[in-house]
Amino acid sequence: MWQYFMPTKVYFGEKCIERGTEAFKSLGKRALILTGRRSSKENGSLDDVTRALSQIGIEWVLFDDVEENPTFALVRNILSEYQDGSFDFVIGLGGGSPMDTAKAIAVLLKNPALKVEDLYDASRYSEALPICAIPTTAGTGSEVTQYSVLTDDAGFKRGFSHPVLTFPKIAFLDARYTLNLSEALTRSTGLDALCHAVEGFLSRRATVLSDLYAKESIKLIAENLPRVLRNPNDLHARENMLLASCLAGMVISQTSTTIAHALGYPLTTFKGIRHGEATAAFLDVVVEQASIEVPDKVEFVRSVLGDVAKFLESVGLNVKVPINDEELMLWTSKAKNAPHLQWTRGNFTEELIRYLYERVKLH
Ligand code: NAP
Ligand code: FE
Repeated sequence: MWQYFMPTKVYFGEKCIERGTEAFKSLGKRALILTGRRSSKENGSLDDVTRALSQIGIEWVLFDDVEENPTFALVRNILSEYQDGSFDFVIGLGGGSPMDTAKAIAVLLKNPALKVEDLYDASRYSEALPICAIPTTAGTGSEVTQYSVLTDDAGFKRGFSHPVLTFPKIAFLDARYTLNLSEALTRSTGLDALCHAVEGFLSRRATVLSDLYAKESIKLIAENLPRVLRNPNDLHARENMLLASCLAGMVISQTSTTIAHALGYPLTTFKGIRHGEATAAFLDVVVEQASIEVPDKVEFVRSVLGDVAKFLESVGLNVKVPINDEELMLWTSKAKNAPHLQWTRGNFTEELIRYLYERVKLH
């Protein structure tokens, strides 16, 4: 038996906000827009959103200080500022960071008695404000997932989700917003999408339908990631990457991510390596480990990407960070106990995990 549930209405294509403006009406009359400091002003997305809202008489308030890898503290700050704002819905505009922050804020504005820690127990809330997600990176797929990844007070990344409420109601995907992503951001976000597609494809929770999306996503990324790295202005290739990251988001909405994500988290929060690269640093071994259990699937991945480690190297992946013994021990034990291992194929022993961290260690 398998199920499929992905309740987000997706608008995809050039000028989709302008063309789909009416859709905002179903969300309410007053919006809180969450975005990062700069990029949404530079790529035209913020103007498109505010123009659309104003045109149909929706009031909006802007918070434009969402940082990369949003923390519990950021969520608390936003809440204290906007708790009494009487918002009907929340818009997350930008990369995964603003979209994930929007999910947390949508729940907490509707449930003022809850603290950010309470987000991790979905049985504590049964309502949330509706969410609109507008990605400006082609990476996380957060616009079509129920997940939000926040960094806790101890510095660890932790994902929460609600099976229904944290899915965006509406997503607008316009690849023009991704045209001015730097090479480094194009690489790291594209690799994140690839990890979602491959991890989801090889996950023990994969379904017939998620596999269709995963295969298409892997093919699109294999072809288009090298292209957008060579020619950042190739709008068609950018569109294909945005489609691939959205499909990969739909995959993990069914399967969740696996051990590569769990292994990568400390490299991001403690060593500043961007999420996609931190995760992709372990992807070749996720594929290798799956080969005993699902050889056909591994064969498919290799037929598209070639040798996985070589493909990653060819797009410029190279992660090396200083790691001390204490970190090695702590991160290994965290990963060993990560829930992600339940869905990950193969045998990720403590020795293997330690070896994987040794492999990215700068000697
Ligand atoms: P991000 O953290 O949202 O943004 C990274 C940087 O990219 C920021 O400096 C941002 O600048 C810039 N940026 C965004 N769009 C841009 C554009 N169009 N042009 C130029 N610069 C742009 O990046 P992300 O990789 O999309 O998201 C990573 C976060 O998502 C992590 O916290 C990760 O854990 C999480 N994640 C969530 C899921 C999920 O399912 N929910 C899945 C994977 C990862 P500004 O600040 O100026 O906007
Ligand atoms: Fe990810």
